[in-house]
Amino acid sequence: GEKPYQFMIRTKQPAGKVTNSVYLLMDKLADEFGIGTLRLTTRQTFQLHGILKKDLKTVLSTIIRNFGSTIGTCGDLNRNTLAPPAPFKNDPAYLYAQEYAEKIATLLAPQAGSYYEVWVDDEKFMSAEMARETEDVKIARADNSHGTNFEGSLEPIYGTQFLPRKFKIAVTAPGDNSVDILTNDIGLVTITDENGQLQGFDIFVGGGMGRTHRNSATFPLLAQPLGFVAKDDVLYAVKAIVATQRDYGRRDDRRQARMKYLVNEWGIDKFRTVVEQYFGKPLEPFKELPPWEFRHYLGWHEQGDGLLFLGVHVENGRVKGDAKKALRDVIAEFDIPIRLMANQNIILCDIQPSWKSKIQLTLSEAGLVEPQDVDDLNLTAMACPALPLCPLAVTEAERVMPDTLKRVRTVLNKVGLRNPSDAMVIRMTGCPNGCTRPYMAELAFVGDGPSSYQVYLGGSRNQTRLAKLFMDKMKAQNLETTLEPVFYMYKTQRLTGDGEPETFGDFADRVGFEAIHSYMAGYGGM
Ligand code: SF4
Repeated sequence: GEKPYQFMIRTKQPAGKVTNSVYLLMDKLADEFGIGTLRLTTRQTFQLHGILKKDLKTVLSTIIRNFGSTIGTCGDLNRNTLAPPAPFKNDPAYLYAQEYAEKIATLLAPQAGSYYEVWVDDEKFMSAEMARETEDVKIARADNSHGTNFEGSLEPIYGTQFLPRKFKIAVTAPGDNSVDILTNDIGLVTITDENGQLQGFDIFVGGGMGRTHRNSATFPLLAQPLGFVAKDDVLYAVKAIVATQRDYGRRDDRRQARMKYLVNEWGIDKFRTVVEQYFGKPLEPFKELPPWEFRHYLGWHEQGDGLLFLGVHVENGRVKGDAKKALRDVIAEFDIPIRLMANQNIILCDIQPSWKSKIQLTLSEAGLVEPQDVDDLNLTAMACPALPLCPLAVTEAERVMPDTLKRVRTVLNKVGLRNPSDAMVIRMTGCPNGCTRPYMAELAFVGDGPSSYQVYLGGSRNQTRLAKLFMDKMKAQNLETTLEPVFYMYKTQRLTGDGEPETFGDFADRVGFEAIHSYMAGYGGM
């Protein structure tokens, strides 16, 4: 059928920080010019869907006025820079991660700062930038001592040409993998000393999710450790990595243009050598990091400054209906600033303890429940907009996800997997592009035809291992018959030591898909 909506506007805010007035503006624009819903994305941004052409200028100029932006055109470049959004006011690792996400976003923005993009049938044609350049960023942008810049160019970093393809960066605190750090072109981890002083950053490079069906030269990859840089060098190191991709990333084939393919083709050692040429000195050895954990920040937490924050679960990141109104009401009434999470949820910040009960009541009356009342499957699940909003979608994701999760829950219950720790990370997309990072999930459905999905298994709960293709073309109606034997095998054959039982992803990865397929073939039902 005909696509009902042509225009999508995506905002950009490093670390997902959104002022009170911008939230209220986006909420209003969604009603006036969009489809009446606000979409929270997997990169801590808003998407406004369904903007009609005749309204585009009005919406753009309204946003520009309120973001204080200017307009420019641009090609593929740095997407929103992620950082764990939790407003822990006394935790230096978090504060630095958020601060440097902003600095790096500014460093790599064509004109610096927070901006939005307009998409028409997946082609971006416009963006606007907001200058928020700090002195160190200004100096780092201008520095061209090792060929990271082009002289005389309006664009000191991108030079006469933009990057060959979109570019994704995340900054995080040690142990906090709420941002899927290993799926980014560059992942940075704050390293602080015992006094909480920032020493520098561990840097990962070469992660990325996107792939194309029936093109075996495209595949998801995990970022690999590149090295450590001192804090004063980090902006230069990022520029050196970006310049490497700018000059060596493939431009002849869009599907091979992401930096992950360059890192993969060269190997990490050659990649490091070339980066060091632009950087002007060797990188230091990667510092040891604690194990990664997925953290979701849902529910009530202390900020550390006497105020509270509340993480609110938003199914599929779609803010709509009563929930949208309730959020707007409390955000407006208490002048609350917002932060967006990288898993499509939202944080209300700076809440006085005395406001808590009223906020709690308003939100719960609108159906926004506390994390303990959300099914464990839903807490970590993500689905992309897909049909009818995304022009690349080949099938449904967001619209069928609530029902899909219920069906998975029913199968889990049937085989007797009812404990919270039995719930797996489930992600779904309407095409192999992988916007919800399905290849990191324990169980993923990747659209490969009408009501048909590839099934991926074997990612880890803390998002550090790639899932692998288990099955092509699973018809949506066969979900139960496909999953029941797999879940039953998991239940009866998983390792149970002294601690928690083996997770579903670890199990699938350990036993291998051949064993699972043959178990399925011999499965006679319960
Ligand atoms: Fe669209 Fe594919 Fe991204 Fe889903 S994964 S939003 S279908 S491009």
